[in-house]
Amino acid sequence: MADANVQPQLATPRRVIFLGPPGAGKGTQAERLAQLLGLPRISTGDMLRDAVTADTAVGRAAAPYLLRGELVPDDVLLEMIRERIAQPDASRGYILDGFPRTLPQAEGLEKLTAGTADAVVFNMEVPRDELLRRLSGRGRDDDKAAAVARRLAEYDERTKPLIDFYHGRARYHHIDGFRQQDVVARELKELVEADRL
Ligand code: AMP
Repeated sequence: MADANVQPQLATPRRVIFLGPPGAGKGTQAERLAQLLGLPRISTGDMLRDAVTADTAVGRAAAPYLLRGELVPDDVLLEMIRERIAQPDASRGYILDGFPRTLPQAEGLEKLTAGTADAVVFNMEVPRDELLRRLSGRGRDDDKAAAVARRLAEYDERTKPLIDFYHGRARYHHIDGFRQQDVVARELKELVEADRL
């Protein structure tokens, strides 16, 4: 007899990784997908900003990096993610927004999850002048010109190599983020649905 009460916990967790530069729309799309799939969105940027506000040890360590637009050290991020994905709400999967951002983080995530071959990876790309336009209008502390430049440089130097890292091994999708939000959201929905087959 088909049992409608069987929970999907035993199924492979659905994991989605958003790559892309700051300003590409990862946060917005990750949130929409999280709602759609009923999975938590895990934004390391939000977690770090919350830690700064709450003045925790992690927050105090991270604050100067955030202000300068530099990446917070990998060991801090990996410990944060290790704890977060062990929470019960992440047992069926999660949407990662802003993590991993370096090769050591990606390798660390592989170890924590016994491989990310089943993860769906969306690499959102937006032309640089559009990124600058978007970032300069947001009003966050790290949206000041110098910090924006630093964040884009960090992306180029340390995050871009993740495209090659994931390209061969995961369900990798290049996403044109320079389109209407709804159009992008529809494409992502179709891709996660197709990936389920
Ligand atoms: P975001 O909101 O994702 O743009 O992140 C804001 C800031 O938080 C970044 O500029 C970094 O200083 C820090 N941050 C967020 N995620 C990471 C990460 N995975 N590794 C290192 N630093 C991060």
